[in-house]
Amino acid sequence: MEQELKIKGGEFLLKQIDANDIFIPEEFDEEQRMIAQSCDDFLETEVFPNLDRIDAQEPGLMRSILEKAGELGLLGISIPEEYMGFGQSFVTSMLSSERMGAGNSFAVAFSAHTGIGSLPIAYYGNHEQKEKYLPKLATGDWAGAYCLTEPGAGSDANSGTSKAVLSEDGKHYILNGQKMWITNGGFADVQTVFAKIDNDRVYSAFIVEKAWEGVVLNPEEKKMGIKGSSTVQIFYNDVKVPVENLLGKRGEGFRIALNILHMGRIKLGGNVLGAAKRSISQSVNYANERKQFGQLISNFGSIKHKIAEQAIKTFTTESAVYRVSKDIDDAIEINKAQEGCDYGRAVMGAFGEYGAEAAIMKVFGSEALDYVVDEMVQVMGGMGFSAEMPADKAYRDSRINRIFEGTNEVNRLIVADTVIKRGQKGTIPLFEKAKEIIAGLDNLTNTFESKGYYEDKSFFVQNFKNVGMMLMEAAVNKFSRKLVQEQEVQNSISDIIMNAYVAESTMLRIQKAESTLPVDVISIYKDMLDVYIFETASVIYKHAMDAIHSIEDNELTEKIVKGIQVYTSVSGVNTKDARRRIADKLIEENKYCF
Ligand SMILES: Cc1cc2nc3c(=O)[nH]c(=O)nc-3n(C[C@H](O)[C@H](O)[C@H](O)COP(=O)(O)OP(=O)(O)OC[C@H]3O[C@@H](n4cnc5c(N)ncnc54)[C@H](O)[C@@H]3O)c2cc1C
Repeated sequence: MEQELKIKGGEFLLKQIDANDIFIPEEFDEEQRMIAQSCDDFLETEVFPNLDRIDAQEPGLMRSILEKAGELGLLGISIPEEYMGFGQSFVTSMLSSERMGAGNSFAVAFSAHTGIGSLPIAYYGNHEQKEKYLPKLATGDWAGAYCLTEPGAGSDANSGTSKAVLSEDGKHYILNGQKMWITNGGFADVQTVFAKIDNDRVYSAFIVEKAWEGVVLNPEEKKMGIKGSSTVQIFYNDVKVPVENLLGKRGEGFRIALNILHMGRIKLGGNVLGAAKRSISQSVNYANERKQFGQLISNFGSIKHKIAEQAIKTFTTESAVYRVSKDIDDAIEINKAQEGCDYGRAVMGAFGEYGAEAAIMKVFGSEALDYVVDEMVQVMGGMGFSAEMPADKAYRDSRINRIFEGTNEVNRLIVADTVIKRGQKGTIPLFEKAKEIIAGLDNLTNTFESKGYYEDKSFFVQNFKNVGMMLMEAAVNKFSRKLVQEQEVQNSISDIIMNAYVAESTMLRIQKAESTLPVDVISIYKDMLDVYIFETASVIYKHAMDAIHSIEDNELTEKIVKGIQVYTSVSGVNTKDARRRIADKLIEENKYCF
């Protein structure tokens, strides 16, 4: 009998999820913790002492650090064992992404190499291609890059003009074109390059080696942040690509590009966690040393507020990131069991399934990190603005996360668009449920009876989801196919979906962790959830009101406005005291400790 997914992509909106059905970071096993420790040790010894040299792009340095990571096995975590990797689960690879994410520019080089640089070959390569390239990538002998963006094709990635034409003897594709903003491009030996064969409307993907004649690199781009990460333009001038280096099938390139981006987006959600946790620790360290008005600044309520909010944003992101990562692992296993589905396609199918959640993690995570580093500067006052302090690098390095792997504008649109399309295709019964909710609005009353801690939180979260579903129904009802032109409405809906997903993930995490963690830890976890749900209710209310009044559907507006008012009502929380307890714990530990 075919196994079914516990939860399909986007289906969290419709289903009541059991806490036992999600994975939480508190469940990492011994092996996973050892891998995380190896990453931490690596950063301490090889990366942190060299951050300035890395950012100065000292010739050969980044490449040599990557090679050292390869020697320690840190580059092969996601590569199958038969190709000299370790074939670890996606959750484990996310944990390594998280830990390495603290490594500023190095984190970008690591992430590009192990993710978009290596995985197109791991997932779409045939045996010969994998045998030829993966062992070199897994060991760090070679570095990898992913070449999609062109000067005229950024967000509209499929509009590129790079072209491949079969040679007369049929042995090569002659590749011509220009790619830009290529991470690791300055030293990557192997590149996945997307180009159109003849007059095809969609890309094909090619494995290209830097050493081949006609591959020409521009000098390094000068950037606002991640200065140590190599970023170049690459020109392909009549490059002879052997036909056996076509990756996947002809015309499959754009699908490969998109599926790899889904993976990259979730990974980015992991990366930002490492950077955020380190930045919080540095914020707390400073607040615990700096005195003003005769006392440590960590005593001030305003500073405690910032530290607590930094922690809440990080903890909630983390809860959602590992939840979806395990859902992906489960989907991979189910796909693998299907006849004729090879490993790569099983993995890519799983990333495709959770495309909306991937976009959520990209947007939510990158914005969480931007908040954390911005407040880090603020906690440090004038010293935060000094180029001598770590806040400077963290602040500038964070900013790229809202731009690459698809900008946050594009990813925000993907969230609502993907869920709506799944509803329209009948993959999830979204609109049936939405219609039910709207029909029930006539009898909806604002009476709340407390039934217990998790029951109440679950009730609020379900109400948030109801707001999202009502608005999707109203928006599709009003605009139909023209909804794509109403980006502001889509964005509001996406923000509601995003916050509902993160709130639910955090609630389920704490519920599951309750039986294994000490009471005082759970109590702080609950403070974070209380504050988050309380704040989220107003965030959702605002987005929902923006959306419904922009939809202007006379029949539905009044009804739905009433629904929004009821469904965003949550019980009051003393957020000041809750935030102080969260901050005090961090201040006492003098580091991020959740
Ligand atoms: C440091 C760095 C490293 C990178 N690494 C790589 C790499 O390794 N490989 C690779 O292939 N690419 C890479 N990129 C490219 C990156 O993915 C693109 O920059 C990104 O996708 C945005 O494209 P763009 O820069 O052309 O911006 P544009 O697409 O021109 O966007 C400009 C603005 O318009 C908005 N916009 C565009 N389209 C829409 C729309 N439909 N609706 C609403 N708003 C829209 C965008 O959100 C943005 O705010 C990298 C970029 C940088 C800066």
